[in-house]
Amino acid sequence: MHIVIIGSGMAGIILAEELRKHSPEARLTVLTLETHGYYSRPMLSHGFSREDVETKIILKSFDDLRATGIDIQAGTEVLTIDSTARTVAFRQDDQHSSMGYDKLVLALGSAAFIPPPFRSAEGLYRVVNSLDDLIDLRRQRAQLLAAGHRPRWAIIGGGLIGCEVASDLAKAGDRVTLFHALPRLMERQLVEEDSATLLTVLQDMGIDVRLDAGAEGFERDGEKRAIRSASGLETGFDDIIVATGFKPRTELAQAAGLSVKRGIVVDEFLRTSNPEILALGDAAELPDGRLYAYVMPIRQQALWLAKSLAGQTSEPWPVPEFKPRAKVHGFTAAHPYLF
Ligand SMILES: Cc1cc2nc3c(=O)[nH]c(=O)nc-3n(C[C@H](O)[C@H](O)[C@H](O)COP(=O)(O)OP(=O)(O)OC[C@H]3O[C@@H](n4cnc5c(N)ncnc54)[C@H](O)[C@@H]3O)c2cc1C
Repeated sequence: MHIVIIGSGMAGIILAEELRKHSPEARLTVLTLETHGYYSRPMLSHGFSREDVETKIILKSFDDLRATGIDIQAGTEVLTIDSTARTVAFRQDDQHSSMGYDKLVLALGSAAFIPPPFRSAEGLYRVVNSLDDLIDLRRQRAQLLAAGHRPRWAIIGGGLIGCEVASDLAKAGDRVTLFHALPRLMERQLVEEDSATLLTVLQDMGIDVRLDAGAEGFERDGEKRAIRSASGLETGFDDIIVATGFKPRTELAQAAGLSVKRGIVVDEFLRTSNPEILALGDAAELPDGRLYAYVMPIRQQALWLAKSLAGQTSEPWPVPEFKPRAKVHGFTAAHPYLF
């Protein structure tokens, strides 16, 4: 049995490691665009105030994983899936190849969601979605600091990731303006009282929080960036970080004819509309219409799927209780999160 997993985030890697334990005879291949190793994605939003983050964020090197018998093909972009021939086509070092599978697992994760008005401004903003994004931002910060300049950032979006990144950049000593289109922060996760506490915590860190302040577009102003909004054009930012949600990577599945809604549609056994192809993690949409895009449920999906593929359980994936929390420095919610 050859099980091919696309993606080396927590969904793909935890699944591969568990399969190694439960199905020692299976051949396991992970095809991934990543080159840095298996890293902690949640740590990305705390990647500015710590000096050692680029090493501490790596949870396991690909070589350590290979030593356990998992074939990791790094720097590999899967281009198409042929579900009839049961093959995937991919590009690695500009070479095109293909590989057969018995079971294919889509652990493709998610990209940052960019609202339509910003899409034409590519190159004028950044996101914090991958280790490469963080490395680029840290490099830019280091250059500004080396030139004796205190970095000034605009963050678009006062949701979970926007607030975390804002608080970490402020902790690192930078100037931060946070633009949020709605009247309160993290309105999807927090009750009003906790949103108000969060606002005070961020303001006490020196963050300039603008509520009811939807950005309408971005412009270049020499070396600086400017933000267009209802109140006019505001300039002087070294860069703009867009944190307006995530978008499950569904394109490969869609092109292969699998059922796709917001995510790749799976049943309660994490099977896509083709039973030989499974999906989990940020990319998968469960029958309740939800995306379980948090560490705890994804870990549970991976542990369960390894047992299911090994024939050790015939029960569906049991949706766990989980309580994610915002990692904003100095903030604790007084009430349960609204998930
Ligand atoms: C900044 C940030 C902070 C977060 N903080 C928290 C937190 O505090 N708590 C929490 O519970 N959750 C948090 N999350 C969410 C959590 O990190 C994600 O839900 C989780 O990492 C998703 O894992 P995944 O394996 O599904 O996807 P990913 O980690 O996105 O992995 C997807 C993988 O697929 C690969 N890939 C994609 N397309 C292709 C292709 N065509 N070919 C080959 N490889 C491909 C990618 O390279 C990557 O390796 C945070 C997310 C972010 C971005």
